[in-house]
Amino acid sequence: MTELTGGSALPQERRVVTAIPGPKSLELQARRTATVAGGVGSVLPVFTTRAGGGVIEDVDGNSLIDFGSGIAVTSVGASAEAVVRRASAQLANFTHTCFMVTPYEGYVEVCERLAELTPGDHAKKSALFNSGAEAVENAVKIARAYTKRQAVVVFDHGYHGRTNLTMALTAKNMPYKHGFGPFAPEVYRVPVAYGYRWPTGPENCGPEAAAQAIDQITKQVGAENVAAIIIEPVLGEGGFIEPAKGFLPAIVKFANDNGIVFVADEIQSGFCRTGQWFACEDEGVVPDLITTAKGIAGGMPLAAVTGRAEIMDSAHAGGLGGTYGGNPVACAAALGAIETMRELDLNAKAKRIEEVMKARLAVMQEKFPVIGDIRGRGAMIAIELVKDPETKAPAPEAAGALAKACHAEGLLVLTCGTYGNVLRFLPPLVIGEDLLNEGLDIIEAALGRL
Ligand SMILES: *Cc1c(COP(=O)(O)O)cnc(C)c1O
Repeated sequence: MTELTGGSALPQERRVVTAIPGPKSLELQARRTATVAGGVGSVLPVFTTRAGGGVIEDVDGNSLIDFGSGIAVTSVGASAEAVVRRASAQLANFTHTCFMVTPYEGYVEVCERLAELTPGDHAKKSALFNSGAEAVENAVKIARAYTKRQAVVVFDHGYHGRTNLTMALTAKNMPYKHGFGPFAPEVYRVPVAYGYRWPTGPENCGPEAAAQAIDQITKQVGAENVAAIIIEPVLGEGGFIEPAKGFLPAIVKFANDNGIVFVADEIQSGFCRTGQWFACEDEGVVPDLITTAKGIAGGMPLAAVTGRAEIMDSAHAGGLGGTYGGNPVACAAALGAIETMRELDLNAKAKRIEEVMKARLAVMQEKFPVIGDIRGRGAMIAIELVKDPETKAPAPEAAGALAKACHAEGLLVLTCGTYGNVLRFLPPLVIGEDLLNEGLDIIEAALGRL
């Protein structure tokens, strides 16, 4: 049993005392391999004992700098005081009633916070779920009920989850879809404004990509058949692609003009991650529906669909829900996480992380031509690695080798991207600046050895 001390007690330092993974982790990994299904992977098989602030401690006594936040989840840290306090109190009162059986205030309060924090000052309502994929599935149900149409439009490089419908919505075959079909019908994929790889250059990319996407929708699907257009305002798993300027507003206008529900999937980019409550605020986009999860509840499983009241209310009573959706402990954790984001002004922290990271990565790019592109916003920053800056041929081996080198030094980093050649940095927003710089030192040294 691990001693429960809370994250604040964790020394905020990197400490590497064994090989990574160490002997105890290797022992646990052998037990894991014997009983855990092989399809469930781990980026780095070090077994965690405690995590908080900007560090993860393992069973061998190592302390890793965390540039992953459990995939953009623990933005407030993995044991934030307000999350632990509120969730613990709720845990002692009751763990579950099922909101669809007897409701409780925490659920309502989370929906009130979502109405305040999400873009737009129209009347809003929310429904709560357990996972991001479930939120996206429900956004589609709601959009179809509202429009009485069936088609759903998604984008190249998009990621929306691992359930049957969200696999269909997701672009990348391996590992998310391969061998798992057949997939849900009435899903159509169109181009996205990927500035770095746009043939006529990033300046032209936004309007050109929007025109192509809209042309494909009108010619191949028919705007009047489309229930929803779903997009990540910063594409996460696809490689931290920020759609080039002008793209999102053009797609929103097309959706509005044609009675299509515009859904912003902010599951990865939401809740202060990009230096705004939601990434779509940067271009003044007001989505009809917004899906949230990951950063919402300091690590507890919670997800939401929030949107225009008249759209949210279009599903019949009993048509939405789920046994665990909006679990009271998860709701209490969410209220603690949101309180922490406000009190510590984590939007400002995310902007500061961007400033530090981008300045240092720009210096590295001068020295190391393998860095083809530096992009992202706030504490959602990535480098795209290429074999040659002219051809931009993807270098997934370099990304893998770099991640491995960082792991060995006690820095947890993740890769992503359609071509597997993007190294992404998602530190907890509460990470100390010294740890942030130490992590960047490790990346720089690893690049030098590559
Ligand atoms: C992670 C993610 C999902 C899926 O969330 P789960 O909780 O893993 O089901 C959906 N959309 C985006 C943008 C994500 O990053």
